[in-house]
Amino acid sequence: KEKTLAIIKPDGLYDNCTDKIKNAIFDSGFTIVKEMLIQLDEEAAMSFYAEHSSRSFFSSLVKYMTSGPVLIMVLEKENAVADWRALIGPTDASKAKITHPNSIRAMYGLDLQKNCVHGSDSPQSAQREISFFFKEKSSG
Ligand code: ATP
Repeated sequence: KEKTLAIIKPDGLYDNCTDKIKNAIFDSGFTIVKEMLIQLDEEAAMSFYAEHSSRSFFSSLVKYMTSGPVLIMVLEKENAVADWRALIGPTDASKAKITHPNSIRAMYGLDLQKNCVHGSDSPQSAQREISFFFKEKSSG
């Protein structure tokens, strides 16, 4: 089965949406195989979003992602990457409320930045992002 990386961002945790988001995850047939509540520091947030480092919103994004704890989860199911992206909906939560009202971002997100969840955009990104947070421990 395929794995993807999901993050409940600071606004999602702050608003106590975690249980509702987890219910949506289970209802859609995902298994949460790993879970970790952490506070990202600036360095980690910048590194995780390095592909966006030249964008105008980068510093604002880093500030947002370090504004409180985040819940990192590895989700597993057939077609996990695409299915999780479909379940969370478009990046802009305010637009999602109109076009994809049943998506997680529409229901629990706020706007283009505060969109409450992250999802890997490809199987390659998923592998990179999972190993970013969950370093494989070698035995011995
Ligand atoms: P994610 O990678 O978090 O799943 P995404 O792939 O839908 O989201 P990206 O374009 O990769 O969106 O942007 C990463 C994150 O940066 C978005 O989820 C959002 O929080 C923030 N973001 C994206 N575009 C903007 C913008 N124009 N202004 C402010 N924040 C933005």
